[in-house]
Amino acid sequence: MNTELIDHITNLFQERFGAAPAHIARAPGRVNLLGEHVDYNNGFVLPAAIDRATYIAFSPTGSNQTTLMAVDFEQEAFFSPQTIPSKTQMDGAPLPEWAHYPAGVMWALNEDHLEAHGLNAVYTSDVPRGSGLSSSASVEMGFMIAWQNLGGWTLPSMQRALLGQKAENQYVGVNCGIMDQFASACGVENRLLLLDCRSLEWKTIPLPKDVSIVIADTKVRRKLTSGEYNKRRAACEEAVRLLKQDLPGIKSLRDVSVEDFNRLAGKLPEEVSKRARHVVEEIGRSKQAEALLEAGNIRHFGELMNECHVSLRDLYEVSCPELNIMARIAQSLDGCYGARLTGAGFGGCTVNLVAHEQAEAFSEALANSYQSETGYPPEIYITRASNGAELVR
Ligand code: ADP
Ligand code: MG
Repeated sequence: MNTELIDHITNLFQERFGAAPAHIARAPGRVNLLGEHVDYNNGFVLPAAIDRATYIAFSPTGSNQTTLMAVDFEQEAFFSPQTIPSKTQMDGAPLPEWAHYPAGVMWALNEDHLEAHGLNAVYTSDVPRGSGLSSSASVEMGFMIAWQNLGGWTLPSMQRALLGQKAENQYVGVNCGIMDQFASACGVENRLLLLDCRSLEWKTIPLPKDVSIVIADTKVRRKLTSGEYNKRRAACEEAVRLLKQDLPGIKSLRDVSVEDFNRLAGKLPEEVSKRARHVVEEIGRSKQAEALLEAGNIRHFGELMNECHVSLRDLYEVSCPELNIMARIAQSLDGCYGARLTGAGFGGCTVNLVAHEQAEAFSEALANSYQSETGYPPEIYITRASNGAELVR
């Protein structure tokens, strides 16, 4: 919990609106530990909510007008249910892009006939924006909590996540899957989340208390990656189409066992075969994770993370030199159980599981070695699995 940020928005709220905020909501970012590029193949993902979050100080206005102050953008926006469909403010000016996320949440609630009263809100976040740690989902899930609190209705956390995804897909216009909002809404302290992307059933599995999740941002952002992403999806669909000749019952790569795949892979074009092998084996790895973590076998789990990196690098081909450097250095350092690129790839972050008492030294050594190999400094966050979106007070 970042009490400094909570104090900061409490003071700003008091100055701006002339009274203390009625409540504070908190909603975390997330990182995915295992199960990469399998969500759209109906596989399993293993994210955790992290202890970096968006904090929202808010009070009801008693009217249908909502006024937002985004501290990190040094801007305000104000809207009502009437102005939301046109993405405008009460004075007719367009809503700034950052306000599409909270306005989208109100839009999704209105669509579902759930009451979303006007509120005054001041908010800030220590989730880095645009680094793949889902700052956008944390904003959505934070406002979901705020409106739930004022509206007098209660939804299960997965339902809140689905409404947040609807807001991002249909109002903001970003075609994200369910993992981001799910992890931000459903996180549990010191636990990983295991989500079945087909049924949306989920459970938590333990992460030892003496392990830190270290996130290392390469600071590399590749442009034009959506084309590559679409090509990967198309390759997976092509693999299913071809494998159906021998396995007529399959609907997605989720339904193909590693044994069947090994037997039939030779019938696929080389590139399709590589892409599909990653997905089939990665789903196999994520299925092993539960038993390993229940048994406290963090070493073996870390090895699966390392295998995942190799697979994303060599089979799925979504890595880049900087991610490979970051993972290689991490894997050579003391206290590191596993390291791999996380998220869509082509830049962004690696995720590392590190013995808690070595996390500081690990992070320093990783930053130094990365900088001396690439010439520029990375950003490193030591974090831990934390609770999902909640009312702090
Ligand atoms: P990420 O991977 O961090 O989710 P996105 O591009 O999906 O990256 O979302 C980033 C956008 O979410 C920002 O451009 C902004 O519009 C919104 N956002 C994130 N954090 C904040 C914040 N602290 N305050 C206001 N808006 C935010
Ligand atoms: Mg996002």
